[in-house]
Amino acid sequence: MNTQLSRLLPLASLVSALFLSGLPTAQANTLAENLAVMEKQSPIDINAHDTKFQQLSPLQFNLSSDTTLSVINNGSPDETKTAARANVLPGAGSVTVDGDTYKLAQFHFHTPAENLENGHRFPMEMHLVFSDANNNILVVGRWIQGVDGPNAPTTALDPIFNDLPKNTTQTHVFNHFDLNALLPANTESFRYDGSLTTPPFTEGVKWVHLAQPLQMSSAEINNFSSLFPPNPLSPLGGDARGIQDLNGRVVLTDVPGFASAVPEPGTYAMLLAGLGLIGFTARRRLVNPGLMTSVA
Ligand SMILES: [Zn+2]
Repeated sequence: MNTQLSRLLPLASLVSALFLSGLPTAQANTLAENLAVMEKQSPIDINAHDTKFQQLSPLQFNLSSDTTLSVINNGSPDETKTAARANVLPGAGSVTVDGDTYKLAQFHFHTPAENLENGHRFPMEMHLVFSDANNNILVVGRWIQGVDGPNAPTTALDPIFNDLPKNTTQTHVFNHFDLNALLPANTESFRYDGSLTTPPFTEGVKWVHLAQPLQMSSAEINNFSSLFPPNPLSPLGGDARGIQDLNGRVVLTDVPGFASAVPEPGTYAMLLAGLGLIGFTARRRLVNPGLMTSVA
């Protein structure tokens, strides 16, 4: 077993974790019961065997190149609370896919990464959280790769990661931020139907995980990791949820050469049936749309 996996929040301790993180016991029990029947959870291991290559709908990003971010710490070291969550101004960004426009609400980070690539775990992962007019959530994920020493690139995120809010009382404001700097020129991606990765783990979330990692200084990644030091619930620290079963889901990708599996006939039927649900036309409403702003 990958030793890093032991860093991740074990599902077995979910109820106690939720309780300790502030959810009343009754609520934590209900959530654990709900989780027992949920089958499209995130994150996942995006691997070649469960991935199908096909042309995907274009992602039309419309992001401000000069906007203001309010960066908050939502409650580290609690691994279910987002630290370095950058709230964006209304209208600062959107993505249109399959004729539906989703507005950017915030972006945030997890360490180590939550989704895996063929079993490989990057040191950090960024999530850009969007929602449409019906409160359907779309998350654009991107892996972050650490680069050591003088070869470390300069990025638009440097000012944020060199001045992270250490606790919930601090809000750091950054002006003139170019949101386009968060995206690669090549937006080939992996797409699947999943969930929030923090309580209440709501499903019906459309995941678009970009294939091209973002490179950042390892020192900056360490600055972020230091907000989630080891604790009894997370012996090696971090704020990443463990990977979840695919339960028959197929990941779609337009990355050439990544997918190795040709779905079996049975799987293919499941895929076709699933496309109606997965196919990015799902319009499942959230149980509580107000939870959007607390998405981590
Ligand atoms: Zn997240």
